[in-house]
Amino acid sequence: MTDLIGLSSKFLDGEGTRLELGPTNRINLELSELADGLAMVESFSHVIAFSTDEGTVLFDGTLEALAPVAFARIRDWNSSPFHTLVYTHGHIDHVGGGKVLVSEAAERREQAPVIVGHEAVHDRFERYQLTNGYNAFINHRQFKKSGVMGTGADGGPAFPRRFAEPTVTYRDALTLEVGGTAFELHHTRGETDDHTWAWVPSRRAACLGDLLIWSFPNAGNPQKVQRYPQDWARALRDIAAMQPELLLPAHGLPIGGAERVQRVLGETAEALEHLVDATLAMMNAGATLDTIIHTVKVPEHLLDRPYLQPVYDEPEFVVRNIWRFYGGWYDGNPARLKPAADAEVAIEVAALAGGVEALVARAQALADGAPRIDGRPDADALRLACQLIEWAVAAAPDSSSVLASASEIYALRRDSERSLMAKGIYGEAAERR
Ligand SMILES: [Zn+2]
Repeated sequence: MTDLIGLSSKFLDGEGTRLELGPTNRINLELSELADGLAMVESFSHVIAFSTDEGTVLFDGTLEALAPVAFARIRDWNSSPFHTLVYTHGHIDHVGGGKVLVSEAAERREQAPVIVGHEAVHDRFERYQLTNGYNAFINHRQFKKSGVMGTGADGGPAFPRRFAEPTVTYRDALTLEVGGTAFELHHTRGETDDHTWAWVPSRRAACLGDLLIWSFPNAGNPQKVQRYPQDWARALRDIAAMQPELLLPAHGLPIGGAERVQRVLGETAEALEHLVDATLAMMNAGATLDTIIHTVKVPEHLLDRPYLQPVYDEPEFVVRNIWRFYGGWYDGNPARLKPAADAEVAIEVAALAGGVEALVARAQALADGAPRIDGRPDADALRLACQLIEWAVAAAPDSSSVLASASEIYALRRDSERSLMAKGIYGEAAERR
């Protein structure tokens, strides 16, 4: 058992200076008691357990493969039956345990716990059926290094097909009364359209799901459906208005103490609000997406906060999602409205450059720190290097020497990035052979 609140206080009070935590750290399946009758099993996602006079109420069910151990830890801590499982949203790392509870109950010929979720969780599960192959690939790419995604029988990437549906759903808000404890559930869009956060008045605690993950909010994810930074910030403000003394996120550490709670909620909301406001202001002034992503940044004073490190998602991706939400997919560059095929562009560019070799040489030079043609000092030369080498690959897809150079450049790019999402995508590009 670890003093998780003590640990997070240390980081928040500036003693543990640099913390790169993020949602894929601390998957140790250890149970820690946070208060009498309140425990957390650290997993992917965490499982939070409240004991009540009628049984245990759980928030989130972690991945299916981790759930049996996580649940066993909770039963060792408190032997009363599981009464209710609340899904904070329908991502697979939050609902996998639902299926485990249903099959356990069937084996024991007992009634399964009540499963509560927002009404849009069902629609998500339907969408997962339509996009099973896609989800297998993108999640493999995103989580490969962290080892939290399984592989299928054929050795390829796998994404689950079956989920336990919520047996109780709601639209805007729902109060559960279990064994004398009230759990006030609230819907918000945020990371997802089916997100629930909960206020537990008797403990002045808020269950946050993925609204807080001890890294920059996952509001931009390049490979996933629309996310909602504006609603997300509003929800954080609503939660702060409840004056919590304890925050229980589904990833990262719990946070104790009213002042710390206000600081974390307020600054996370501020970062998101800034991105939304600055992006909208530029959209309304007629700027293109290209100009916006190279201009809008998170305010300097927020960048070093241990709960805003861009180690999972990152602000640039959030800006793109804001553009997509308010604008659409057309980015303002007419050449990209109905573009020529990538390979055709690449062949033209390679010919203009004097051959594929010239593209490769220039890409390598930029990656090695050569000055830019326009003489500008540039920390982002790797962006240019990747564009040039990608043209070379598209122009000569069967050339092993081109692919070898591409691997080197993308490996450099992967290592220079901080977010798991960028690392995953560049890492895969580095492994193309
Ligand atoms: Zn999650």
